[in-house]
Amino acid sequence: MKQFKTESKKLLDLMINSIYTNKEIFLRELISNASDAEDKLYLKSLTDSDVKLDQDSLSIRITPDKDARTLTISDNGIGMTAKELERNLGTIAHSGSEEFKAANAEHQGDDVDIIGQFGVGFYSAFMVAKEVKVTTRACGEDVAHTWTSDGLEGYAIEDGQRDHCGTDIVLTLKDDVEGEGGEQGERYSRFLEEWTLKDLVRTYSNYVRHPIQMMVTKSRQKPKPEDAGDDYKPEYEDYTELETINSMTPIWKKSKADVTPEEYNEFYKSTFHDWEDPARTITFHAEGTLEYDALLFVPGKAPFDLYSKDYEKGLALYSSNVLIMEKCADLLPDYYNFVRGIVDSPDVSLNISRETLQQNRQLHAIANRIEKKVTSELEAMRDQDREAYEKFFESFGRGLKFGIYSSYGMKASELADLLLFWSARENKMVTLAEYAKAMPAGQKAVYYAAGDSRDRLAKMPVVKAALDHGFDVLLCTADVDEFTFQAMRQYTAKNLPKVYEDDAAREAVEKAVADGAEPELEDRTLDLKNVASGDVDFASEDEKKEAEEATKENEDLFKGMKDALGDKVTKVAVSARLTDAPAAITSEGPVSLEMERVMAAGPDADQAPKAQRVLELNAKHPVFAKLQAAEKDGDADKVKLYAGLLYDQALLVVGILPDDPVAFAQQVCELM
Ligand code: ADP
Ligand code: MG
Repeated sequence: MKQFKTESKKLLDLMINSIYTNKEIFLRELISNASDAEDKLYLKSLTDSDVKLDQDSLSIRITPDKDARTLTISDNGIGMTAKELERNLGTIAHSGSEEFKAANAEHQGDDVDIIGQFGVGFYSAFMVAKEVKVTTRACGEDVAHTWTSDGLEGYAIEDGQRDHCGTDIVLTLKDDVEGEGGEQGERYSRFLEEWTLKDLVRTYSNYVRHPIQMMVTKSRQKPKPEDAGDDYKPEYEDYTELETINSMTPIWKKSKADVTPEEYNEFYKSTFHDWEDPARTITFHAEGTLEYDALLFVPGKAPFDLYSKDYEKGLALYSSNVLIMEKCADLLPDYYNFVRGIVDSPDVSLNISRETLQQNRQLHAIANRIEKKVTSELEAMRDQDREAYEKFFESFGRGLKFGIYSSYGMKASELADLLLFWSARENKMVTLAEYAKAMPAGQKAVYYAAGDSRDRLAKMPVVKAALDHGFDVLLCTADVDEFTFQAMRQYTAKNLPKVYEDDAAREAVEKAVADGAEPELEDRTLDLKNVASGDVDFASEDEKKEAEEATKENEDLFKGMKDALGDKVTKVAVSARLTDAPAAITSEGPVSLEMERVMAAGPDADQAPKAQRVLELNAKHPVFAKLQAAEKDGDADKVKLYAGLLYDQALLVVGILPDDPVAFAQQVCELM
């Protein structure tokens, strides 16, 4: 007997005895080796005229034997010479488990399911077998050899017997283990059951190109005897038949009409390890200079790690059913990182490396098409099944917004119409297009308010003021919202009823429309404005004039208040928009209060820019008269007190604590 190399022994021990729970994958590994061996023989037959091969004769056979407690996996592939047996199965360095070894070095001691992440190769057979016997005859040789091992110490190679080239792998299954004291048992004999084997093949090896066959027991009705009377009851008998259990054709190569939605859902769930059905299944086939099939899924729910840095985006890339890369990141833009699926193209070269992939033109072409397709599918979902789309958006909307923000608005034309925001007036999610469509004639901007609670935003004085003017406000509660709007700057709404500056023209058109003419439509570019920013103007010309005059009239008062507030505000002014509230804090310039808050909570908090705050006062509010009176009396202390209080309470209503809550409380008491 020959000893296993030390590293092989270590790995074997680890794999068999300690961490790995998913023992059933041994079958996938042995089948994939068998399939590889058949591919190799086929390739050889193409170049070597001595090898005569009927491609259809290639098949893999699974044979359970309950009496002998053995499971045999046979192939009629290329086989192995004695030397190859020694090299391939004697040391783990030649097996696919090499990757595992490398990864394991880092993970030593971690109690995690690491093997499950790799192809573990031939040795996985020892997870379920107490003895493995490999009888193989190489193509072109007339002798066979048998390799035997218990997977513990070593192996032996002897002469064997086989009529044709190929390999039989005979596993003698381990004894069943009873579950005991919380420890789970293991019924190895289940790997002899027809149903289990079929299930495993379908789960793991369904798309192997060669037929995987097994004798299965079936039942049939016995022929009706000639002399059967009227009371004849049909009789049944069992018989066995060789059945191909894998589907061979990958589901993505089938036409959509031949696959039921349930089959797609099952495929999605088993392939991408999700419990929920996908929200959307997308299939397409491209022909021409670049041929490929794509099968994509929009998950029903975000995986828990979607927004963590550990999440890896990407689609599985196949070339003619052979997996090249499990997660090809270049096939998906970041904002569609949630899409799962498969791309299969015979035109993508097999031995492609990560580096060459990046520069691969074909891949770019595929990625572009995928992006467009996903966009149009999401649009369709938005228009056809709003409820599902809202659910989708709840999970993945943040990524779409981030796509606009991180591309500095370049992706806005693609993504803006996929966004949903909460409408304060409609009390539901709306698109920007829907918002624009519902705007009254004079509205020139899309208004939004940003903060962390929808309720509080709805109560903000500036929001109420906008609503009172007939303008809807989008209430944005996600951190990224306002940054997204800032990156977009504008939104172009399509097909809005045309606005006529000149009254005569408008009346003429109104008359024509009343007589049945189609109204004229236009695309209109709207600014995106935070209602709490200083340059929002939805006041009428008269209101504005009034406010300006009032500001001028009260110049001294405002100067006194500004002095009292110091650096906290850049300006105190009369508001042209406030209706109920006595005062509001708005901001001038690019940074809003909400952005200030978000950035102050971010990683660069000390360098975060500050909003330039403006204290806007409502000249019609009784409080304003009090202020004026104090100013008239020359009571500078009172002006100072009021200024501080108004400033603090205006912040309070939008959810920002006063800088000095104790002082605020004292001021309130002083007043009382
Ligand atoms: P991998 O398949 O990743 O190379 P494995 O551990 O699964 O690693 O197999 C090791 C090697 O043993 C294979 O590369 C192949 O050369 C050989 N081998 C395994 N099974 C067979 C088989 N059924 N027929 C021919 N060769 C085989
Ligand atoms: Mg293998």
